[in-house]
Formats: sequence, structure tokens, C-alpha cells
Amino acid sequence: MKKINFRKMVLLAIFSMTVFACDKNEVQEEDISENVNSVTDEIYNTKSSGNLIDAIYLGRNVTLLEVENGKYLYDGDVLLERNDFSIPVEESNRGVYGGGNWPNRNVRWKYASGVSQDLKNKWTSAMNTWSSQLNFSFTQISGSSGDYILVQQNSSGSAYSTSIGRKGGQQIISVDPRYYGSGNVVHEIGHAVGLIHEQKRPDRDNYIIVNYSNIRPNWTSQYDKCSSCTPNGTFDYSSIMLYGSRASSSVVYNTSIPAMTRKDGSIWNAQRSYLSTGDKAAINAKY
Ligand SMILES: [Zn+2]
Repeated sequence: MKKINFRKMVLLAIFSMTVFACDKNEVQEEDISENVNSVTDEIYNTKSSGNLIDAIYLGRNVTLLEVENGKYLYDGDVLLERNDFSIPVEESNRGVYGGGNWPNRNVRWKYASGVSQDLKNKWTSAMNTWSSQLNFSFTQISGSSGDYILVQQNSSGSAYSTSIGRKGGQQIISVDPRYYGSGNVVHEIGHAVGLIHEQKRPDRDNYIIVNYSNIRPNWTSQYDKCSSCTPNGTFDYSSIMLYGSRASSSVVYNTSIPAMTRKDGSIWNAQRSYLSTGDKAAINAKY
């Protein structure tokens, strides 16, 4: 109990100090001035602070950030609802709900209302990447029966998926096309078909150093290891599921200090152009 209250206090204090730092325009300017070639890491930008809670999702112990409207943020850009996970004291199997494969690598989807041509082009390009590089197929549906991804546009600076793997029924990929390109959409489809962030591999400490002292408490979970995950192959710095070394001022206290480095201290940019050898191997092992 003490732990939760302390966390609350820390989060409230940090939130009150960083309201202006979370402004989208400021983040965007900063990213551009630091590195013109950098791409934006996918993130769900919370409008408010929330509690961190311990939960079980897909059979794993995770930390979730409770954000607005009864939503729970896992790993920076995976937005869950309450019945997607369990908490440790509950006798429930809800924590393993979801995470399924899409039969025959066929993903069913449809657009939400209000999706711009810009985002439609990015979605189409991202589908083509998964089709051409990993033999996925995509079926656009009308109606709302069966399992499908609702492709949605937001204007909050966010890019997120509401599930790791096929959830059952509707799941959402939501993107603000002002900040994210087709490669970011490829990344979100990665979550929707079952991939987690590369930096969460249980063996990642053999490859990278996470600079926790520079990461704001709300965002540490996206850098935490998934100790129960089965890694495939070796750590892949080219994975489309790996965040870049540097993070925005919403995530880190000091943007000149990397959130992650290689063991030798060197840094990398996020790769959002193609599915890497490791990404393909992971999918081929899963499907
Ligand atoms: Zn992600």
C-alpha cells in the first residue's frame, strides 16, 4: 500500500512539473533539432497522470499505467481495457485472453469513420509491407462480425494498438498521421499480430543498457524486460519493434542522455522502414 501511495505522489509531482513538456509541438521541434533523420517512437500520449498497477497480461507479470476513460497502457503504445488483464490477487484467466494468431496469417480489418487519405495511404503501405515480406493477407470487411482491426485516426499525437496478437472481436490500431509514417503503422501491425518491443527481450541485458535514472516513472515499463517471454534468435538492433536510443522529453528527463545504449555506450536510431531478419524469424516461429 505504501508503495502505491508513494508512486501516486511521485506521479502527481512529476505531472505538475511536466505539463508543458508534454506539448506536442515542443516534442516535435526537439526531435527535429536533435536529429533530422530520427523517426518518432510510437507512444500513447496520456492527457493526465495515472496510477501504476501490477497486472497479469498474456500470462505475464506487467506494470500498467491507468490512463483516462478506464484504459490501461502497457508498454508505451498498447492500450488495454480492464477485461484484457487480471490483477495478481484475482482468480481469473483473463490475463491470458488475447495474444492469438490470425488464422492463415489473414488479418481482417476496416476503417473507422474520419480516417484521412493520408492515413489510408500509410495503412495501405504498411499492409503491403506485411504482405510482401511475410505473406500476410489483409481482408477489408464491412459490418462488425468476427475478429478485426478497426483502423482509427486520432489527433492526440498517439500511435497505439489495443492488443498484442489477435484479441477476439474488435481491436484498434489508432494513429495520428501528422506525427507517424507508414513504418510506424508497420510497427503497430507488429503488435496486433503478436510482437512485443525488442528491448523487452529477457536476454536484452546482454546487448543493451537501459538508463532508468533518466526515464520518467510513467514510461519505465516499456523498457522493462519480459522475463517470461521466449526470445527468438538474438537481439536485433534493426527490429522494427525496437525503440530508438533517444526518447522525447515526455519520456526522459534529459533528451541529451539516451534512454538506451549498446553495451559499449553507442546509440542507434529506430528503424521503421522494413521488417528485419529478426522480426521475420520471430513471426515465422510464432505462426
Ligand atoms: Zn510499440
